[in-house]
Amino acid sequence: MKYVYILGACGSIGTQTIDVINQNKDKFKIVGISVGHDLRKALDVIKLCNPQIVCFRNKDDIRSFEKYDFEKVYGDEGLKYIASCHRYTEEIVVNALVGSAGLVPTVEAIKAKKDVALANKETLVMAGYQIKKLLKEYQVRLYPIDSEHSAIWQCIQGENKNDIKRLIITASGGSFRDKSREELENVTKEDALKHPNWSMGEKITIDSATMMNKGFEVIEAHHLFDISPYNIKTVIHKESVVHSMVEFNDGLIKAQLGLPDMRGPISYALLYPEHVKFSDDEMSFDSLTMHFEKMSFDRFPCLAYAYEAIKKKGLYPAVLNAANEAAVRLFLANKIKFLDIEKIIRKELDYEYDNVDPTIEEILEIDQLVQKRVYRKYGDM
Ligand code: MG
Repeated sequence: MKYVYILGACGSIGTQTIDVINQNKDKFKIVGISVGHDLRKALDVIKLCNPQIVCFRNKDDIRSFEKYDFEKVYGDEGLKYIASCHRYTEEIVVNALVGSAGLVPTVEAIKAKKDVALANKETLVMAGYQIKKLLKEYQVRLYPIDSEHSAIWQCIQGENKNDIKRLIITASGGSFRDKSREELENVTKEDALKHPNWSMGEKITIDSATMMNKGFEVIEAHHLFDISPYNIKTVIHKESVVHSMVEFNDGLIKAQLGLPDMRGPISYALLYPEHVKFSDDEMSFDSLTMHFEKMSFDRFPCLAYAYEAIKKKGLYPAVLNAANEAAVRLFLANKIKFLDIEKIIRKELDYEYDNVDPTIEEILEIDQLVQKRVYRKYGDM
């Protein structure tokens, strides 16, 4: 039996994780979860997984749950508590938090020697080198929950790392794939939130539209698989059938295909190396067509910024993430235009950051500094 803690249990990944777990009740038991500000949703989720501990956003949220006898914690300290409390031998933390808030809980989980299934991209983007050091020090395993990284991970099973020539990460193109730069001038939040293939949270849907999501995935892949960013390519593949590919030195390529259903990567991360059924759906090859198209850095400058940040290393990936996080929040609050997102990130990356080997604390400091600077300039949040 594996004991599971889910951070961000009410989000898209969180609820799909509960679905996978509830289909494998003989293998998993949920111990703790964190919920968001939607308390009605929180109640539904609590009933679905019957946890021992629940972390709420705010202290006041606890009031409506007093009659329930699970342990109640709240806020950042509560998240840390859920991430770090250690009650059983085999434990795993599913980190499905959104944004930079995911970093500290990942660190806490590793220090508590709990394995981590990571859906929070920002953890590795901000502090990939530091997290890898911690994983080694505490002998903890980290499993990716992202269709692209899960695909690469599946493709390299049984392979030798030195045989890998490059990783090819596919991108659906997001909600604005077919729009020109000019047409992007006046797109709205509502337009951006319509993703053609995947249904996801708001932040990641905007990150997909700017292609920053793919940039984050390049940085994560670099850390997860120890492959130079120079050997990680991205390609537009609008059908989202091929979830990513690995090319070996002899030119042979392995690809992983499947329906766009995040329960696949979730299930593989939790049950690795087993492939366990979670749905009756199957892909039809009767009339399947696939397109691949060159990725344009001019069309999607955020992707170029991500390559730039990871090549410069140090604090730059954290700055990239912080500027993006603040800009996306401003866009979602209708305070800036869509194309301002990339302008804000460019501006923040243009400052000098000379710390080449930052600590987690220094990364958290720069995160706050950059986010505050962006909010000060473009509107209070
Ligand atoms: Mg992805």
